[in-house]
Order: sequence, then C-alpha cells, then structure tokens
Amino acid sequence: MVMMPYFLGVKLMMVRLKLYLKIAAFEFQSERHIMQNASLEGKTALVTGSTSGIGLGIARALAQQGAHIVLNGFGDTDEIKALQTAIEKDFGIKAIYHNADMSKSAEISAMMQVASEKFGAVDILVNNAGIQHVANIENFPIDKWDAIIAINLTSAFHTTRLALPAMKEKNWGRIINIASAHGLVGSAQKSAYVAAKHGIVGFTKVTALETAQTGITCNAICPGWVLTPLVQKQVDARARNESISNDEAKKGLLSEKQPSGEFVTPEQLGALAVFLCSEGASQVRGAAWSMDGGWTAQ
Ligand code: NAD
Repeated sequence: MVMMPYFLGVKLMMVRLKLYLKIAAFEFQSERHIMQNASLEGKTALVTGSTSGIGLGIARALAQQGAHIVLNGFGDTDEIKALQTAIEKDFGIKAIYHNADMSKSAEISAMMQVASEKFGAVDILVNNAGIQHVANIENFPIDKWDAIIAINLTSAFHTTRLALPAMKEKNWGRIINIASAHGLVGSAQKSAYVAAKHGIVGFTKVTALETAQTGITCNAICPGWVLTPLVQKQVDARARNESISNDEAKKGLLSEKQPSGEFVTPEQLGALAVFLCSEGASQVRGAAWSMDGGWTAQ
C-alpha cells in the first residue's frame, strides 16, 4: 500500500520526462529546419548600392549564408575590387560587381542581364541604393528632386519588374526594399526623400499583393539613423552650422529622433534581411519593418 504511490510517482516522472524529451526534440527539429532554410547556398542576391554602408552590410550578411552576390554602387575602382575579393574570400562564394547608375533604366537592364547570365537568375533582390538632399521645398533643387525619386524609388520598379519573371518561374524569391523611418513619418527639409520612401513602402505592398500566392515575398525595412556616409554628411553639416564637435552633432541627431540614443548598425540590418530570406519569414508579406531604435514608436 505504501509502495504504490511511490511507483506511480516514478511512472509519472518517466512519462513527464518522455514528454519533455519529445518536445525538446520537436523544438530542435523545427529550429534546425528553419536554420537550414535560412541557408542561402545556391541562391544569388543582387544588392543595389552595396559598395558602402547598409547595402554592404546586407550583402556580407547574405554572403555569409552562402548566397552569391552582385555588388553595385559607386566608388574607387580599387576599393570596390578589394570589397569584392574580401566577400569572396571571407564567405567562399562568388561575387561580381556592376557599376549601373540606378537613375538610368538602360543601365539597370544591363546589370540585371549580366546577373542572370552569370548566375542564372536573381533570387534575392535588395533595393537599397539611395541618396539624400536637405533643403526647404521652395529652395529644393529640381535636379536633386529628380535624382532622389529616380534612385530611391523608380530604380526599384525597374529591378523588380526585371527580376519577377525568373522568380515566378522558380516560384521562389525575396525582394527587400530598404525604405526608412522616413517611409512612415516625415521630417522637415527632406521632401524628396520622404516622398520617395513613402512611395517605396507603397510599392512594397503592391509587389507583395501581386505575388501573395507564390513563393516570392516582398517587404520593406525601415531603418532609423545608421552611421553611414549618407548620415555622416548630415552630422558634418550640423557640426558646421552649430559650431559643435562631431560627437555632439551625432548626439544631437540621435536625441531628436531615436529614443534608444544609439545608431542602428548595418550588421543588425543584415541580420534582419537574412531573416526575411528564411523559410520562417515566408508569410511576412508587404510589411514595413522598423529597425529604428524606437523612432516611429513615438
Ligand atoms: P551610403 O551613402 O553609405 O550608401 C549608398 C550606396 O548607394 C552607395 O553604395 C552608393 O555608391 C550607392 N549609390 C548612390 N547613388 C547611386 C546610383 N545613382 N546608382 C547606383 N548606386 C548608387 O548610404 P546608406 O546610409 O548605406 O544608405 C543605403 C540606403 O539606406 C538608402 O536607400 C538610404 O536611404 C537608406 N537609409 C539609410 C539610413 C541611414 O541612417 N543611413 C536610414 C534609413 C534608410
């Protein structure tokens, strides 16, 4: 009589242990499944504006997952060659570079053609190239407006329309548009940039809807301040205008908009891009995903 509850207790413990082991094995399997699918071996990723900043961070993160890379952007020829060689050496993938000017549709077509001739197709398209100009609307130079709309918005229409047929044929693809916190909210003196970034968030939604029943997803990433050459120019201008140090200018920029008080990094954005390319993200569609230190939570 005294032994029964003891045996029952042991039996119950064994049943519980088996259950725990089963759950742990299941979780391990699912995690492994998602991790395996995060591997991008055999895929090709084209990242526009990837000779610097965020684009380079994303290109390196995708290469780390095994994707071949098409680099694009401007810069010193030797430096670009060094970036290309480093990415190949560091991750054991193939990388090519195309110097298409993203404001010119013919050059974009040529780049897409070269990418598919070299690698078969573009499986992952990251529309990242972008420029900025800061001025009040009445003083905003018309050529700057045109360039910002062409590079930050229209180029994504061209790359997307050219990438979609091959993605549809494979029934797999990932399109990631690098928008901005300025795709969700405005700031004074950034009319063209804010218009282009709101535009790309809209374009992302339409691309996601038109591909909703396929294995192709399209999402936007909306970064806050990231300390790249694009932002360093704004830091320099602020330091100059307010006669303050570089560090004070950085703190000023951050404290105005970004509650965390810290810059987002290209590596963090690369990690988000890798997630959006994974199987785990296959039902993330048409999102405008903020990584902005709390900027747009205010
Ligand atoms: P960056 O200046 O470091 O890089 C821009 C890249 O685009 C470079 O490779 C440059 O050569 C390329 N580029 C510029 N004009 C081009 C053209 N006509 N054709 C081809 N390539 C061209 O800037 P970044 O900060 O890394 O910006 C990358 C993207 O991220 C942009 O779309 C920008 O709007 C967006 N963004 C940046 C921040 C930030 O705080 N830095 C925040 C939100 C969004």
